[in-house]
Amino acid sequence: MSISSTVYFIPLQKNSVMEERIEATDTLIKSIGFDEIFDKNDKIGIKLHIGERNNDTHIAPEIIHSIVAEVKKTGSRPFLTETSTLYRGSRSDAVSHLTHAFEHGFTIEKTGAPFIMADGLVGNAETEVPIHGILFQSVNIAREITLAEGLIAVSHATGHIQAGLGGCLKNLGMGLASRIGKMRQHSSVKPYIGESLCTFCGLCIKWCPVDTIIEKNGKAFIVQDKCIGCGECLAVCSFDAVKYNWGVESSRLQKSVAEHALGVIIDKRNKVLFLNYMTDMTKDCDCLGSKQKRIISDIGILASRDPVAVDQATLDLTKQASGANLASISWPRIDPQIQLEHGEKIGLGSRNYKLIKL
Ligand code: SF4
Ligand code: SF4
Repeated sequence: MSISSTVYFIPLQKNSVMEERIEATDTLIKSIGFDEIFDKNDKIGIKLHIGERNNDTHIAPEIIHSIVAEVKKTGSRPFLTETSTLYRGSRSDAVSHLTHAFEHGFTIEKTGAPFIMADGLVGNAETEVPIHGILFQSVNIAREITLAEGLIAVSHATGHIQAGLGGCLKNLGMGLASRIGKMRQHSSVKPYIGESLCTFCGLCIKWCPVDTIIEKNGKAFIVQDKCIGCGECLAVCSFDAVKYNWGVESSRLQKSVAEHALGVIIDKRNKVLFLNYMTDMTKDCDCLGSKQKRIISDIGILASRDPVAVDQATLDLTKQASGANLASISWPRIDPQIQLEHGEKIGLGSRNYKLIKL
């Protein structure tokens, strides 16, 4: 039996507004006490997600401002951080990502902290971090975050097309891996096209980052050798024509995510905090370049120093509120417990937790 971790929970109204979220964030982080975690002059990376173009459900810069202000009171030095995406879009290298971040309001004026891309100009600035994993003995992590003394991961709880749950582990493991690290995690995902459903709309061809989808007999066709498993074609097809083996391949990806998350925090064990926002919850993550429908009303915000416990609590509280958890509502064919069980096995955290409601 693993040790029980503490998860703090502050509830929100079902349709919470920004002022309530900021107030709840302030109460939550003051209760935890950053003085206990961070030391003067520590460089603290605040990992966030700025939302793909047109996404309006990501965590807002005003909330990040509250967190930055509290970190600064400890005398440590916060910076906002992210990595570039594998797929094409508005965040595929540092120049486009930072330009887009400013368009979404993540400026130093609005948040109080500079934005530093953790994986450099084109996603290849990395450190190979040794871990005692089951799949990997080392993982490729974005370099700049390995140089920071501390880390706060601010995660927007959503469904996720490949992991079931897009929560803290996903934010850490995929979100702070270098480009090579991301590709290693995706390497098991090899989709194919169900011909009878393909209308040949061309969208997957446009979005595939390695141009490995071609036309064959008037339908889309994936040349498997070049596919890097980014899952972009799965996300953009509106006709359910892109298929893959959900059970086997999601399982491997979830375990890989957990092992990369371990690589991110392995040298920062005492200087980490994980915040999960159960607000504006959607079926897909904030990487989708369109507005999304909320599928569960707002529940509140969670904080823990255990990344596994905070995700487990997210699943449990969304289930209590809606009868089924966020991942099951979003992607019923995926079992999100795989990433948490694996995280527990490799010493990343515990699924047993004590919930303290504020
Ligand atoms: S997005 Fe879907 S329907 Fe459109 S070409 Fe690709 S597989 Fe076919
Ligand atoms: S074919 Fe492979 S590389 Fe191209 S979008 Fe789909 S998963 Fe990504």
